[in-house]
Amino acid sequence: MKETKEFQAESQELLNLMINSIYSNKEIFLRELISNASDALDKYRYQALKAENNLPAKDYAIELIPNKKERTLIIKDNGIGMSKKEIENNLGTIARSGSKEFLKKYKDFKKDESMNIIGQFGVGFYSLFMVANKVEVLTRSAHEDKAYLFCSDGKKSYTIEDANKDESGTEIKVYLKKDEKDGEEYSSYLDEWKIKDLVKKYSDYIRYPIKMMCTHHVNKKDEKGEDIKDQYEDITSLDILNSMVPLWKKNKNEIKEEEINEFYKNKYYDYENPLMHLLIHVDGLISYDALLFIPSHAPLNLYSENYEKGLDLYAKGIFIKEKCKELIPDYLKFVKGLVESNDFSLNISREMLQSSPLLRKIEDNLEKKIIDKLLDLKEHDKDQYLKFYKEFGNHIKFGIYSSYGSKKDLLKDLIMFKSLKHPEEYISLKEYLENMKKEQEHIYYASSKNLDQIKLLPQLEKYRQDDVDVLYFDQEVDEFMAMMMNDYEKKTFKNISSIDQNELSKEEKEEIDTLVASNKRLLDNILEALKGEVDEVTFSNKLVSSPVCITTKDGLSMSMEETLNQNPARGENEVKARKVLEINPKHNLFKALQKLTDDEEMKQYGSLLYDEALLLEGFEIKNKQNFVEKINELLVKAIN
Ligand code: ADP
Ligand code: MG
Repeated sequence: MKETKEFQAESQELLNLMINSIYSNKEIFLRELISNASDALDKYRYQALKAENNLPAKDYAIELIPNKKERTLIIKDNGIGMSKKEIENNLGTIARSGSKEFLKKYKDFKKDESMNIIGQFGVGFYSLFMVANKVEVLTRSAHEDKAYLFCSDGKKSYTIEDANKDESGTEIKVYLKKDEKDGEEYSSYLDEWKIKDLVKKYSDYIRYPIKMMCTHHVNKKDEKGEDIKDQYEDITSLDILNSMVPLWKKNKNEIKEEEINEFYKNKYYDYENPLMHLLIHVDGLISYDALLFIPSHAPLNLYSENYEKGLDLYAKGIFIKEKCKELIPDYLKFVKGLVESNDFSLNISREMLQSSPLLRKIEDNLEKKIIDKLLDLKEHDKDQYLKFYKEFGNHIKFGIYSSYGSKKDLLKDLIMFKSLKHPEEYISLKEYLENMKKEQEHIYYASSKNLDQIKLLPQLEKYRQDDVDVLYFDQEVDEFMAMMMNDYEKKTFKNISSIDQNELSKEEKEEIDTLVASNKRLLDNILEALKGEVDEVTFSNKLVSSPVCITTKDGLSMSMEETLNQNPARGENEVKARKVLEINPKHNLFKALQKLTDDEEMKQYGSLLYDEALLLEGFEIKNKQNFVEKINELLVKAIN
């Protein structure tokens, strides 16, 4: 019975793109179909290892069968195949996130640019419609006796019918489009040399033999097997077109950069080359090969809850598990890649895998290697490093915040900040230390939501005047990280908005005490007006031209307060930073305040001062209406 079904809407969108593609690199369809065949063989091989599946071992192979008369190319594998349900799920809908990501990206890009990203994305099965106007998929699942034929012209619908096939696996028959005058010659995909070329270019590392009947022009032989002079004949043989050595098993000097990039983009659905890769061969107590990538940009879903970190795991040439999360620490979740080790037993269960000490050791080892590579990059190619840092710097900070022990020390040299003296470039903690004054005891930082806000902080004035550098903490994680680190090379971190009476000289203290004593009524009234908001109202020696600022006691800063309270898990349980309103005694505004005689007026001005300080430091005023009313009242008074 033949059934006709519609493609899911998203699929239709993607198919439409493929059919009308003007993308010039249409040849990548072959890479996609071969990589699907290879995946299907991986799946079969893995399942055949388990006795309960009762699957016989096979001579795993992929075969390419061009037919010039029919204008068809068959890509055949003897892998896992598909059941009817699987055909519908895998070919009738966009099964994988890579294609979804592509569609999303496509909508962001301008039309012609998006054509260019098609090939780089590796849009999978549907890419065959760039070169074909029809496809037939004959497939039989290894888990059942029935075979099916899927047929489609890639427009709105496809058909499925029962079929016959002896062995499990899949044959994809691609019906090539007509050649275009002065355009694409689709028939070239049937040429022996062209196919060989494409396999070498894109699929050389595929582990399974990719076979094809090839013609060889050879010397004719006589009965004794000797060449007959000047007599040639064409013979055919089933040749293997690929070298079958996985990229990660090769040596560095055997691999071309381009090959690595293509591999990455195809396997991890990226349209951009990776920022860098690490090829690791370890032979020792544990032995493994790894090929890791740091993307040039964060994957679209990196920050979504369903993002899955992890590296693909192979053992003895067999694909064991996708996205094995035990292989990479959380803070490096953006790292992609794979690990192959002969030290795993093949029938290890997923559960056993999770608690495997071997995995932990490899993870530890890889983490160290990634950090070393980044340190090296920072040292030798700062521009490239900054590219990395701007994209993933927060993850490194999170690593410091969340990890303990030895790695934290290594990560410290990876972080960088803009600063008061370096507002446009990033400096490392080491550079900060090298440039600080001998007597300076702390690493100073200023923190707020963003750089513009930080630059407005009244507290910075004094540091600017004294020529002391202050790091700009503009990311939520920064202060928490500094708190975990406590110090760098024995210099402790200090928020310039945190009060520390011990830092004042004796004279400074006395000076402030006297001021406080002689303005007690004013300060008490302001404190009264700000009950519940601030713990103390006093004078500052840090301010130069700003009238007021807010500082905090006890280490919890206002930005941290805000961040912590944003966490929905906290509920009603708000944390509160202990705030101090500091007035600049040299400012004209204070001089004016001193003239006030009425308690109520003092309160009114005091509360305005506090709101002003909040604004200056980049925070929200709680009661905006109240603020406006008070200002208006004062304005009216002033004008009358
Ligand atoms: P991806 O390979 O990234 O999953 P594709 O669009 O290339 O996406 O393929 C979609 C799905 O179709 C595959 O995930 C797989 O389940 C199925 N599929 C494609 N080709 C084959 C094949 N030769 N054998 C078995 N399943 C296949
Ligand atoms: Mg695929």
